[in-house]
Amino acid sequence: MGYLLTEEKRKELVAAAVAAKAGAYCKYSQFRVGAALLTTDGEIITGANVENASYGLTICAERTAVFTAVTALPAKPRPFAAMAIAADVDPPVSPCGACRQVLAELGTAELEVIMVGADGTTVCRTLGELLPLSFSLSR
Ligand SMILES: [Zn+2]
Repeated sequence: MGYLLTEEKRKELVAAAVAAKAGAYCKYSQFRVGAALLTTDGEIITGANVENASYGLTICAERTAVFTAVTALPAKPRPFAAMAIAADVDPPVSPCGACRQVLAELGTAELEVIMVGADGTTVCRTLGELLPLSFSLSR
């Protein structure tokens, strides 16, 4: 959608993802993940992973952020511009397949995904690179 991700906004998004790790509920894995989603009007919505004793019910940080953004900002423009994901490991983690598909529902192939490692190293890919030929009913 032509959103220009400035270096300042990129740093803000990465910092938001790192800070969002504090919200993780990960008593089983101890694996904290924070995600920060940037809307095309510059707003940042965050999320963290929320685990469950029934492991399959666990939700990733990325989907927490997307679902929060969708429900909190029903009238806001989509698709989203970028997402940063932070965890306490190196190299940085990339979004799981389920989260890639959820991002594809509301983002374009150009959506920038910034993966942030424990030491602050970032790896950037577009959603189209992470999930080519995503499932869609509108083709
Ligand atoms: Zn996921």
